[in-house]
This record gives sequence, C-alpha cells and structure tokens, in this order.
Amino acid sequence: MIVGGWLPGLVEAVVQSTSHARILQVRVPDWPGNLPGQHLDIRLTAEDGYQAERSYSIASSGAGTLVELAVDRVPDGEVSPYLVDDVLPGDALEVKGPLGNYFVWDPTDPSPVQLVAGGSGIVPLLAMARARARRPEAAPFRLLYSVRSADDAMYRDELEQLRADGLDLTWAYTRTAPDAWAGTPGRLSASVLADAVWPVDRRSLAFVCGPTGFVEASADLLVQHGYDPARVRTERFGGLS
Ligand SMILES: Cc1cc2nc3c(=O)[nH]c(=O)nc-3n(C[C@H](O)[C@H](O)[C@H](O)COP(=O)(O)OP(=O)(O)OC[C@H]3O[C@@H](n4cnc5c(N)ncnc54)[C@H](O)[C@@H]3O)c2cc1C
Repeated sequence: MIVGGWLPGLVEAVVQSTSHARILQVRVPDWPGNLPGQHLDIRLTAEDGYQAERSYSIASSGAGTLVELAVDRVPDGEVSPYLVDDVLPGDALEVKGPLGNYFVWDPTDPSPVQLVAGGSGIVPLLAMARARARRPEAAPFRLLYSVRSADDAMYRDELEQLRADGLDLTWAYTRTAPDAWAGTPGRLSASVLADAVWPVDRRSLAFVCGPTGFVEASADLLVQHGYDPARVRTERFGGLS
C-alpha cells in the first residue's frame, strides 16, 4: 500500500459511542485498504482557508473504501470537539494514509497477542480484535481495557460480543466500577496487570495504546512483569493521563 497525497472523503454515518465519543464512517473512494493497527491523518479546511490536521487510528481494516474512525472529545481541543459534536453525514474531509507499519498485527504471526488499551486507545486494538475474529485459526488474544467507568468505554457492546466469541477481555476502572467488579478503581496497578495479561513464558506480542502517560506507565509495568521490551509495541495519542 503506497501512501499518496490527500484523498477526498465523505462522512457517511456517525454513531454515538459514549457521551463524549463518536464513531465516524467515512467513504474514501480512493482508499487503498489498510492493515489492523494503522492510522490516517485528517485535514479539515475552514471557509476562510484555515487548515488543521490530526491523526486518527482506523477501527476497520482490509480492503474496502468505507473507513471507520472513533474520536473521543478532548475538552478545549481544536479538532476533536468538531468531529464529536458537529460533523454530519455528507460533510467532506480529507485523509492521508494508511500510515504506520510498526503498530500493526500480522495475522500469520502465531504469537499470542496481549492488547492493553486506555480510553480511545481501544481504536487500533479493536481493529486487531476484529481482524482476529475473522480468522479463528489465528493466535489467541487478550485485551486489558482501562476506562474511567463502564459508560466511558468505547465499543463496549461490541467488545462484550467479541468476548462471547472468544476474546479474553479484562476491564479495569480508574474512577467508578460496576458493583459486580471485584477491585478498587484506580490507575492500572502491577497486580491488576499481572492477573490480566498472558504469562511471560507465552512470549506474547503486546500492543499498548492510549494517552501518552497511560502508555508509558502500562509499558513499564509489562516490562517490570517480565515482558521483553522488544515485544511491547506502543502508540501514544498525546495528552498526559
Ligand atoms: C497515531 C495517533 C492516532 C490517534 N488516534 C486517535 C483515535 O483513534 N481517537 C482519538 O480520539 N484520538 C486519537 N489520537 C489523538 C488525536 O490525534 C488528537 O490529538 C486528539 O483528537 C486531540 O486533538 P484536538 O485538536 O481536539 O486537541 P488539541 O487542540 O491538539 O489539544 C488540546 C489540548 O489537549 C491535549 N491533548 C491532545 N491530545 C490529547 C489526548 N489524546 N488526550 C488528552 N489530551 C490531549 C493537548 O496537549 C492540548 O493541551 C491519535 C493520535 C495519534 C498520534
């Protein structure tokens, strides 16, 4: 897949995912397809010509020209509030991609996969879990998803469905937990992580994604737990927590 210049896209559908996040399906007629885990750049142009660009992970993968994105609103942000609150089906935007060849799951790799997501960091990991669900013969997946509360979980229903279909899914809550959850809400701890992830001797390949602080803390915990740093791949979305 060769990345060219900016491609015209048309928003085809918008779906509310949480009270502060939205799923956008964008038709990009010249989209070359993408691998699970890749991202794209979006360029918005205002009527006065002012332009803003941001990166967004792609929740869909494979061939096809309907590209799915999911955007969480960053309060006071320049671009994300527009994408979450204002954009409508029929609106135009430009995209460039697919981008990134490192934070990508290769379905032919037999290694077990450990996914660790914080907040909107679920988006590229969902692309991997969806791709895995289409290939039952592929390696087993575990997902540890840290969210503020159950209502803050993007793609919650689909993740529960993937769990029913074999995804080993552990929720972690930082602020408010459902009554049935055994544990104390808070930042991801070494013991919660150790209970949730593949044992070190499985030599799993880990993908960690979310806000920068979350990614750095989680990757450190994985390495302290015994994971090989060379097998912990990270994608940082920015922000501090
Ligand atoms: C490879 C890549 C993939 C990404 N994929 C996604 C995705 O799938 N979904 C998604 O919602 N976002 C994703 N992001 C983040 C996205 O690119 C923007 O940074 C985010 O939407 C904020 O943009 P903004 O214009 O609203 O905020 P800005 O105007 O750029 O920033 C406003 C303030 O918020 C802080 N900030 C910026 N980004 C974040 C953040 N992620 N968390 C907390 N604070 C932040 C800034 O430091 C600044 O103080 C991705 C980023 C990268 C690099």
